Amino acid sequence: MKTNAIRIHQPGGPEVMVWEEVDLAVPAAGQVLLRHTAVGLNYIDVYHRSGLYPAPLPFTPGLEGAGVVEAVGDDVTDLKVGDRVAYANPPLGAYAEVRLMPADRLVKLPDAIDERTAAAMMLQGMTAQYLLRRTYRVQAGDTILIHAAAGGVGLLVCQWARHLGATVIGTVGSPEKAELAKAHGCDHPILYKSEDFVAKVREITNGEGVPVVYDSVGKDTFLKSLDCLRPLGMMVSFGQSSGKVEPLDTGLLAAKGSLFLTRPSLMAYTAKRSDMLASAGELFDVVEKGVVNIGINQTYALKDAPQAHRDLEGRKTTGSTLLLP
Ligand code: NDP
Repeated sequence: MKTNAIRIHQPGGPEVMVWEEVDLAVPAAGQVLLRHTAVGLNYIDVYHRSGLYPAPLPFTPGLEGAGVVEAVGDDVTDLKVGDRVAYANPPLGAYAEVRLMPADRLVKLPDAIDERTAAAMMLQGMTAQYLLRRTYRVQAGDTILIHAAAGGVGLLVCQWARHLGATVIGTVGSPEKAELAKAHGCDHPILYKSEDFVAKVREITNGEGVPVVYDSVGKDTFLKSLDCLRPLGMMVSFGQSSGKVEPLDTGLLAAKGSLFLTRPSLMAYTAKRSDMLASAGELFDVVEKGVVNIGINQTYALKDAPQAHRDLEGRKTTGSTLLLP
């Protein structure tokens, strides 16, 4: 069988992504053949494409999608043809019309969750879940700082944290993004291109600092984020949209108040199937209850993935973005 997919033969800019016909094997034991209804766009796709996170060449990028099972391998018993499923996991290969997936990395969708919503939320939503519920367990009354608050992960964190009873401070790249973040539960949007976010955080918290910073911007914000924390606070460095974080002298953590530092990844938090199902289950629950709304703010044809990457890296997108086969 054949399918159309984005392929990368050499890492580089968005132009290295080419739309090609590729061969597909029949599903082996433990695999299913999945026809995508929608594919999720994530910043990690940029790291794979650019070579920051090396992948074996050539490869099809993408870690998130949703669709319908078209065929199952021999020993797959808990999924059948026609089931609606979603995923946010390795192996790479989501930027394809049809793909093979290990059955044990798929989650069946509840009736209330449509496939487009699922493809838009699985990766960013399970990330928001583990950040807020496991890495640092946000409590009612906490004031937290999230960078890129109007982005995919950002808008979900704002809504979910507000629901947990937190006050949310969020940095954003433009006044329009500030409005959007505010409408999604961000109490204090800060325009970090023009405002000193450390001074603002200190002002909002009466000089105390926050117990946790969720920092996915990396290079441009990392050191300043440490200055936003109160003693014994937790620095959660979970991404690097602006570039890689420089190596750190751990003495700095002592000097700034016995801080904790963690560099988490969704892959570790969902490596066990039971953890993945628990995380997806909590996500489905907050979405079904209307606590967290999934804003699909951009859609592109899958073959136009290069333009989607340009817009994501150019800070032109907000919320979630879908690639449609
Ligand atoms: P976003 O929608 O948040 O897009 C990235 C945003 O980062 C931009 O919109 C922009 O917002 C901000 N940004 C700040 N500086 C730059 C820069 N120099 N270049 C580009 N963007 C910049 O993406 P996602 O929601 O997909 O991912 C958010 C972050 O979370 C990424 O860093 C990603 O790698 C990380 N992540 C980590 C996971 C983990 O488990 N560790 C899992 C999922 C995501 P603004 O204009 O408002 O500054």
